[in-house]
Amino acid sequence: VEKLINDLRRAAEIDGMTGLANRSSLIDRGEELLMQCREEGNKFAVLFMDLDHFKAINDDLGHHAGDIALKAFASIVKDIFDEEDDICGRYGGEEFVCLLTGDSAINVVQKSEMLRSRLAHKPIRIGGHPLTLTVSMGAATDDGEICLLRLIKRADAALYESKNSGRDRITLAV
Ligand code: GH3
Ligand code: MG
Ligand code: MG
Repeated sequence: VEKLINDLRRAAEIDGMTGLANRSSLIDRGEELLMQCREEGNKFAVLFMDLDHFKAINDDLGHHAGDIALKAFASIVKDIFDEEDDICGRYGGEEFVCLLTGDSAINVVQKSEMLRSRLAHKPIRIGGHPLTLTVSMGAATDDGEICLLRLIKRADAALYESKNSGRDRITLAV
């Protein structure tokens, strides 16, 4: 029974499609992580990502292909961002959020550029066919004052600047 409860608890925290944290667990765990970083004087940053023109992938290749693309993207995000204490989550449909601490937070722009470069140079494969994804991103670093949800909003606003200024880029919130 104990194992079953633990398995269920874990399943409730994970996005079934990608294996990343789901939105509610990202926020719950993220609030604790943010408090911990502040107490320890550690850097903290939010990175918000939204795949570009994702609807066109579904329209052109089908919803199943879209699902494969989401899984492939999540796995690359995990490779690049999922350090020890950091949390990567699927925030909604084709939107992802990473909560970064310490050096990852300090290097959020460089790491985002690594992600863009990886996507640009190594297309994902869908049923043997190559597909190059691009992603627009926004980042906000902790100023020690606002709550996690407001930091996420700040990163989302920066992401919208990335969308409006041509997509496939990272904008750092001021
Ligand atoms: P933009 O560059 O402005 O972000 O354009 P977009 O097409 O990505 O944005 P929009 O919000 O119009 O479309 C998001 C699409 O993502 C629409 C929706 O069908 C698709 N989507 C959301 N969740 C899933 C999913 O789980 N699987 C698949 N295949 N598609 C999904
Ligand atoms: Mg979106
Ligand atoms: Mg999108």
